[in-house]
Amino acid sequence: MSSEERIIQNTEEDQAWADWLAPTRRNFIIGAGLTAAGLTAGNIEAEAQDAAANGLSFKPIVPPPDVGKSPWGYETIKELTPRPKNIRPGEEAGLPKAPRPYTDIKSYHAHFYFDEDSYEKAALVRKWSLERFPVELGNWNLEPRGPHVTPSFYFGFTNDLLPIIVPWLQLNSLGLTILLHPNTTDPRADHLYYTLWVNRSQPVNAYGMPKQAAVEKIFPNTKPTVKLEV
Ligand code: ZN
Repeated sequence: MSSEERIIQNTEEDQAWADWLAPTRRNFIIGAGLTAAGLTAGNIEAEAQDAAANGLSFKPIVPPPDVGKSPWGYETIKELTPRPKNIRPGEEAGLPKAPRPYTDIKSYHAHFYFDEDSYEKAALVRKWSLERFPVELGNWNLEPRGPHVTPSFYFGFTNDLLPIIVPWLQLNSLGLTILLHPNTTDPRADHLYYTLWVNRSQPVNAYGMPKQAAVEKIFPNTKPTVKLEV
């Protein structure tokens, strides 16, 4: 069969399915099925009434309305719309005047997030990472810590490792959410504006972080024992 014939055949088959599933035909089939089963509109209503009588209907059970006064008073509706404080890097208004030099980044952190269902994945990626890269490894944090709102662990690494660690984590994340943030003199922006995520992002509570601080230094505390797979 030539490829042209195959295309024609597929097209006919598709058309047959399209005809079979056309809305008018579907409605006809559904109507016929319901009639055959004795489920006409009138019967459905009668059955619903029977179900209600037998306590088999689905009605939401809601708590009774609370009695009392709102702790907020009754004037909040009159509040004008306030503007949140500026948390942009450098608190600049509007667009920046010039690009920031990439050399402002002095090192990186990789934060790995996990929970009670994914901690074994975190342990495996942690082990694999430490076997292969010289990094500064922090503790297991089993509760939110700093700006991190779920259990996490992290390692810091030097800029030269970035072009290797990013693709390595992309292929070896095991589906975990990983925050990669740079370290500049603006920790708040590092966590809110300059981020790179592997997989889905999650909230980072960094609004209270300082906008000016000494850059985090990296002192590797692990030594590679396994040759990196290439
Ligand atoms: Zn960090």
